[in-house]
Amino acid sequence: MSAVPRVLNLGAGVQSTTLLLLAAEGRIPRFDVAIMADTGWEPAAVYAHLDRIEREVAAPAGIPILRVSVGNIRADALDPGKRFASMPLHVRNPDGGKGIGRRQCTAEYKIRPIQEAVRRLLGARDKANGRPDRVPRGRHVNSSIGISRDEFHRAKDSRVGYSRHEHPLLWLDGAADGREGWQRSDCVRYLRSNGFGSTPKSACVGCPFRRNAGWRRMRDTDTTSWADAVAFDHAIRAGYAHATAKGTDLPGNFYLHESCRPLGAAPIDHVTRPEWGSRQTDLLDAIADTEAGLTDPDDDPDADMGCSPFGCPNDQTGGAA
Ligand code: SF4
Repeated sequence: MSAVPRVLNLGAGVQSTTLLLLAAEGRIPRFDVAIMADTGWEPAAVYAHLDRIEREVAAPAGIPILRVSVGNIRADALDPGKRFASMPLHVRNPDGGKGIGRRQCTAEYKIRPIQEAVRRLLGARDKANGRPDRVPRGRHVNSSIGISRDEFHRAKDSRVGYSRHEHPLLWLDGAADGREGWQRSDCVRYLRSNGFGSTPKSACVGCPFRRNAGWRRMRDTDTTSWADAVAFDHAIRAGYAHATAKGTDLPGNFYLHESCRPLGAAPIDHVTRPEWGSRQTDLLDAIADTEAGLTDPDDDPDADMGCSPFGCPNDQTGGAA
């Protein structure tokens, strides 16, 4: 273990997988541990990818992967006996207007278990309630977060003294455009050249932040997850089971899709304006990749962002726990 432990926040998506491979290759300093916060509801492809990088990359490099979890987010949402940290569900209000619920799930299911694991790593003892106490004075880790140049605005400080965030992709050389820092497309090329071109995006199966392209991809390529998401969407129409079991009146109806229509009937084949914008942004990369035989011309890499605990694309918490 380094004097100041180096921790990788491993979401198992494109950027954090790139950091793991770069560290294993010795192109960036090695990590003492990689921590993956498991909500229990990732698509099967993410778990298969995680198993593979653990077996083929992390273990040979001597980087342990620590999987941490506070529960299964899907099961908890439907459990009338459990207080639930809410997901950002889309809401159709009684007056017909639309809104979106508070997002507490990232802090509860991703940030909290990672920060508790870090506190234990730094010597904090468990309290009577089973959660770690304060970190002994003067200790901290350096936590690497997989944020690429195209999303640099998501790079944030940790806001806790025992963890200092680093963003190694932002200062790497070797980007295709010659500038400092890797873009997501540089990560994708690097992963492909190392046999990990099928790295999936990491996010809960039923994440309400998923966009039309992501829902389409799920419906067309992962029927198990699609059926699961459609069933969950139906089950939360009146809100979370705990609230309704307590008799709390939750005004409105709740949905996974932003149209506030049942997921199975939602207009997911509609290509939204942000998706078109994303496609335009990626056009040159896509052309270059297609000409090089690297990608499918229909691939739309940014149309469905993953959920990174410390750099959520829809962050409303500032990444603080
Ligand atoms: S992927 Fe979506 S539902 Fe899951 S923790 Fe992140 S924001 Fe919440």
